[in-house]
Formats: sequence, structure tokens, C-alpha cells
Amino acid sequence: MTHFEVRRYDAAGRLGELTVPRAGVTVQTPTILPVVNPHVQTVAPSTLESEFGAEILITNSYILHGSEDLREPVVERGLHDLLDFSGAIMTDSGSFQLAEYGDIDVTTEEILEFQRDIGSDIGTPVDIPTPPDVDRERATEELATTQERLERAADADTGEMLVTAPVQGATYPDLRERAAADAVATGLDVFPLGAVVPLLNEYRYADLVDVVAACKRGLGEVGPVHLFGAGHPMMFALAAALGCDLFDSAAYALYARDDRYLTVRGTELLDELSQFPCHCPVCTEHTPADLEAMADDRREELLARHNLHVTYGEIRTVRQAIRAGNLLELVDSRARGHPTMLDGYRALLDHAEQLERTDPVSKDAFFYTSAEAARRPEVRRHHERLDRLPVEGDDVLLTEGSSSDQYDESWGVLPPFGPYPRELADTYPLTAETPDRTGRAGFEAAATGVARLVDLHPDVSFTLLHDDWPETALARVPDRVRVRDLRANE
Ligand SMILES: [Zn+2]
Repeated sequence: MTHFEVRRYDAAGRLGELTVPRAGVTVQTPTILPVVNPHVQTVAPSTLESEFGAEILITNSYILHGSEDLREPVVERGLHDLLDFSGAIMTDSGSFQLAEYGDIDVTTEEILEFQRDIGSDIGTPVDIPTPPDVDRERATEELATTQERLERAADADTGEMLVTAPVQGATYPDLRERAAADAVATGLDVFPLGAVVPLLNEYRYADLVDVVAACKRGLGEVGPVHLFGAGHPMMFALAAALGCDLFDSAAYALYARDDRYLTVRGTELLDELSQFPCHCPVCTEHTPADLEAMADDRREELLARHNLHVTYGEIRTVRQAIRAGNLLELVDSRARGHPTMLDGYRALLDHAEQLERTDPVSKDAFFYTSAEAARRPEVRRHHERLDRLPVEGDDVLLTEGSSSDQYDESWGVLPPFGPYPRELADTYPLTAETPDRTGRAGFEAAATGVARLVDLHPDVSFTLLHDDWPETALARVPDRVRVRDLRANE
């Protein structure tokens, strides 16, 4: 599979290029696919392309297939002509309708053939979107049906059209992981993580993180990975840090219809805004009162445009953060927008070992701006690698202060990383910018590092000179370490 290439990682987040052969375009990822309703276009696809830089969009082939007035024109003229869009077009299959209404009238073979015939660039089989929290038996049975359809999709004559292999399994991490591995084994091209919308609607970001992390374990580093139905910009950074490459948004239009205004911190109601906290053309040229006074369709269009500006703006912010190596700082800052986002961020850090595998060994800077930062992959990696750093001598000082000749060897100590040989002081992540008031989590993480180093060298005698560490940190330091407070020496 050479149609997706990763250019750069940060945590498990990636900058990639998706080559879509049928459209003859290369799509930069992460990106968002605006959902275009073939019947109601709040913002025309040509405008998405020219004003918002959309390289790819998604529309629903099942709606076209069932439409009396559009079915023939789309077969005759093709999707790109019908929608007036020259980028890549992905099509959904009706799985959503299946989940909503319990029944649809096409098979995977029929809908894939239709998608191919109308000129779709990325087609989708009819998988079974199993909702969260169902019993395990149902999740397992529906997964078997999905897998069987994926295998039929892999055998279908789809020409140059890329075909997706949706990953289901409800909220069972082991089922998700296995489903993901099975999806890869089909040889299909794009991997949507399905049925996450109920989790998003209920703000269950921690559960979402566990589901995505499980899928990613099964997928490995293949891609692209599409978080199906995720279109709110507040969670792009979080999902991207786990390795999601594609998002799709109906939110920009649906929210606009209800006078809801998207921001990277959440959703606002238009009538509760006295100012627009945004620099987009809509928000600089109008006030909330202006929009309130407008006719419904005009207001809806302007709100949809604002929502799109925020959405694409956040995609660019995420890309830049991956390039700069500060994606986790971005996730940290977005996590402050809502308590459930903070849960999501904390759940993400539960998977630090998984993030660490692709996280670059060196970046520009590590900003310690929250207690959560003490659990980042870089801290974990530093602790892991202590076993590769030689300790010379029988009597070693670990100190937050200056070195001392009274010991065979003197190491520095930097919260949240812990002990390090002085010659590494100028290397990442020990170049971290930390606040003067580190806080308990940073000291505790440093103490965990001290404990690891001490345990690795049972025959060496250690002295720790710390700067006013709290009891909770000192409790982690093994008893055999001589512990002194730097301030006691002053
Ligand atoms: Zn705006």
C-alpha cells in the first residue's frame, strides 16, 4: 500500500500524504472532509475548494442511489461534475442510515458498483456500525458480518477507486484491536473507525481515546485512519495525537442550522454571544447582533462559513504543531476547554507507551505547562533509558543543585524527568522549559526516575539532594538513598 505516506510524527500524530489515484490528487493529512448533502448545499463544493482550500470532501452515495431526481444525473455526469468539485470525493454507503433506521435496500456489491459508476474516488462498503456499550455477543456477531463484507469488498471490481475498511467493535478494546488487524489483512485502502459518534455526542472523550488507541494497536502504522463522524474542531488535536488522519464534518452545516457557533473550546449559541471571539472574515465583518437580524438562510450560511473557517483553521494548527513537535502542548491547551476533554487528554497519557513508539527522539522544546505533562511519552522514555546510561563509581550524588567533588560521580536531577548525566543536559528533552513552581506531579515523576536508577544499580550508594520536594515525591525514593533538602544546606 503506497497511497499513504507519513512525512513526520509527533506522539502518534502524523503529517501524511494520501494519493488518490482516481482523482489524480494528493491530499495533505491530517485533514477534514466536509460532508456535502447532495440535496442541500449550505456552502457549495466549489466554494469549499476555492475559499477554504478543501482538497477532499465526502458525500453519501446511498442518498444519491435512492434519489429520484439525482440518481440518473449522477450516473450520467459523474459525481465531480454534479457537485462541481475537482478534488477527491469520498462516498459513504448507507451504513449510517442502516444504524438509524435498521434497514437499507442495497448490498455491499451493489453500492460499491454504484460508487464506482458515479466516479467516487474512495468508496465504502456497507458495514454494521455497532453502538457503544452493547453486549459483547452482539458486538462480536456484527463484527463478523462487517468483516465478511470487507472481504467481499476486497474481491469486488472497484477499478482505481480506493475502498475503505471500517473498523467496528463497539467499546470493547480487544474487539476493536482484532477488527483493525483483520481490516488491514483485507488489503483495503482507508481505515474509518466506525460508530464513534455516540461517544462524541455524549462527550465521552476518555472512552473515545481508549477505542481509538485499541484500533491503532491493530492497525499498526498503516493508514490513513479516518475518525468517522468526528467534525468538531475541539477534539482534532486529541484525535490527531493518537494517529487519526481524516475527519469529516457535517457539524459545520448542522450546527449553523441551529444557530450554533463552533470554537476550538466548544460550542456557543449565537444569541448568547455579544462579541465574536474569532478573526475569520464573517466574524470581523459582522457582530452577533447583525447575524441575529438577518434572514434565516443568510444567517445559516454565514454561521456555516465561520464554522468552516474555525474547522480548517484548527486543522492547520494541528499540522503546524506536528511539524513543530508541540502537538502535545496543543492537546494540553485544548484539554482546558471542557472537563471531558481533560478526561480525554488524561486517557491519552494512559497510552504514553503507545505514543512513545513513534514520538521523535528529539524536538525543539518541551514545555512543562501542566501536571499532565509529567506523564508525557518523553518522561516515560527518559525513565526507560536510564538502563542504558552507565553509572561510574560507588558513591553517586543526584542533585538539583551544583555538582560536588565529595562523590565519585554527580548527576543532575530535573523534574519531571529525574536523574540525568550532566553531559546530557543540553539534549532533548532535558532542555525542557519548566516553571519555577513545578508542582507535585513533576516532583513525583522525578522521584520515580530516581527510584528506577537506584533499583538498576543495587551496589551503588546514592545521595539525593532535592529542592523542597513534597512528602508524596520523597515517599517514592527507595529507603537506602540518603536524602537531603538543598534548602537545609543554605
Ligand atoms: Zn469566525
